[in-house]
Amino acid sequence: MKVFMHWDMEGVSGLFCREQVWYWEPGVREEVAREGRDLLIADVNSACAAALAAGVDEIIVCDTHHGGGNIELDKLLIDPRITYLVRSVGPHDGTLRWMPGLDQSVDALLLPGHHAKAGTTGAFLPHTWSLDWADVRINDRSVGELGIEACFAGHWDIPLILVQGDEAACTEAQEQFPGVVTACVKRALSHDLCTGLDAGSARRLTATRIAEAIERLRTAKPPPYKPALPMTVTIRMTTVQAADRAATRSGVRRIDDYTVEGRVERHCDVVKWINGTGLDMPAPRREGR
Ligand SMILES: [Zn+2]
Repeated sequence: MKVFMHWDMEGVSGLFCREQVWYWEPGVREEVAREGRDLLIADVNSACAAALAAGVDEIIVCDTHHGGGNIELDKLLIDPRITYLVRSVGPHDGTLRWMPGLDQSVDALLLPGHHAKAGTTGAFLPHTWSLDWADVRINDRSVGELGIEACFAGHWDIPLILVQGDEAACTEAQEQFPGVVTACVKRALSHDLCTGLDAGSARRLTATRIAEAIERLRTAKPPPYKPALPMTVTIRMTTVQAADRAATRSGVRRIDDYTVEGRVERHCDVVKWINGTGLDMPAPRREGR
């Protein structure tokens, strides 16, 4: 069994404030940024150990937060069964692509460290990819990064089996993917602040949930997320200027002052029409938060 862990950071264990996670913002103290990255790294190690203990043969760990660059290889569990991708766009079969290594050989997608979609109330740092995006809809269903990433994986029929994050992210996951296993490790106090289990307890909870998700995959494999094709992806921007910029891309249709739309034939093209991220990319691009 081979799994792909696509790590964001807002939802990791024991991480409770904006400064720890959006650590590139002005004024962030170095030691707080360090804390945030160490919490992510400890979570990655713990989750990988749990997946291996549950019988997984191979893990791809992908660092996606702000495009990647948050994990540090010398602090990670060294095991021949684990491959680390330090950025979420990288080489694959001679081209650049999003989530290299995600293909038909992968049995399941895990989305740890995640957050709720843009506009969610009662959520810790909710957003969808870019702060320019107010709402993303696939065939008129509002989705967050969870939905976008699950849709991309749907191209290879890979199901989403686990989400770890705050209460709002887990609720979003369960609403969109009934039966998905969630590890709720925190809840928002405000947009920039949350509270929850201490890091050790949160890691233990996540490890238990990972074991459950792997067990469920063996006994009753959940369906992949495959919205009907061709797929219409609609993005309402936060500003008219962002919509102006998006509308200059070829194939992008302007719906109104704030909204643009693309129509795609493949699940893996869910965001390629708007930001170029997907398969067969010409050059590396910076990702969202
Ligand atoms: Zn994110």
